[in-house]
Amino acid sequence: MNISHIENEELSLRIYQACIDAGFDDCGIISIEDMDTYIANTRKRIEAVPVSAGFYKNAISGTEEIRARFPWAKSIVICLSQTTKYKYPKELQGLYAKSFFISRDSVKNGPEHLQKHKLGRWFDENQIEWTGAIKENGSDIWGLRHAAQTAGIGIIRRNNFLYNEDGSWIELDSFLIGEHCRLYQERKFTPCPTGCTICQKACPTSALHEPYTLNPFHCVSFINTFGRGIVPEGLQGEQLGTWIVGCDACQDACPFNRRHDWSQGEDYPGLGALVEIMQPENILSASSEQLENICLRSSDHLKPKDSEVLKTNAERVLRNRNIQKSIVI
Ligand code: SF4
Ligand code: SF4
Repeated sequence: MNISHIENEELSLRIYQACIDAGFDDCGIISIEDMDTYIANTRKRIEAVPVSAGFYKNAISGTEEIRARFPWAKSIVICLSQTTKYKYPKELQGLYAKSFFISRDSVKNGPEHLQKHKLGRWFDENQIEWTGAIKENGSDIWGLRHAAQTAGIGIIRRNNFLYNEDGSWIELDSFLIGEHCRLYQERKFTPCPTGCTICQKACPTSALHEPYTLNPFHCVSFINTFGRGIVPEGLQGEQLGTWIVGCDACQDACPFNRRHDWSQGEDYPGLGALVEIMQPENILSASSEQLENICLRSSDHLKPKDSEVLKTNAERVLRNRNIQKSIVI
């Protein structure tokens, strides 16, 4: 690890090691004040896409309120987990966003998910006050990609995703702690090539119409999950293509992601057994229990009761496939 800046060195390095022991692949520790830049950047995003104000307002207020809500907090520990250690069945590619279904949170109370709790126990054992999403009634913070970039463990690219040397297939967790620690890494990430617009061109709805901006309400990942599958005004159902849950188009197209081979790696526990039922034609006839099981694995993008959203999305995918077939004929 190349460190560019460290404070409270002994404890900061012990926290880093505790993160690794809890199954995280990387970690940095930043100040709460570092998140002020996130607030400024988010305001710029709203200026660029005014319709996104409703979406981002909680991000701004939530970040502004960190100090008031957690007056004891002195630092943010940002932890990164690599999802590329798993295979992703080719039958699910282009239908389901990979990171949702091979996340450490895809199986609640599975070994990967529970291993994260080891970090909370370590904080407790070392009498470090903390909160984070893994704590019951704990709090997660907004702007995790910004926090990770600030800590030097990744770079936010023009498609808004955080990348490390292996691409954008990573997930982030944050912990607020009551100790003053800092650990910023020094890593050299090649920036996006000048003039590259591959991700923008790959976006089926033009939600990503300019670098580092997004119309979240036109993003397929939002529409087919939190947006409940309802096609918003200004878009046509065909534009959502074959995505049932999430969308990887702007990540799959990126040259920095292309070298990863999804046929390599470990099997994600239990995912192979669901491949058949996750096909759109089978979702329409699946039992409520099977649909709930798929929703449960979506890393909280769908709740178990959202079976109807899955069906709405699957019906649209089948319609779109028919349209595509008739165009080819
Ligand atoms: S996830 Fe899909 S819809 Fe959203 S910005 Fe990327 S390509 Fe566009
Ligand atoms: S496709 Fe090009 S512009 Fe978009 S994130 Fe990748 S390298 Fe950057």
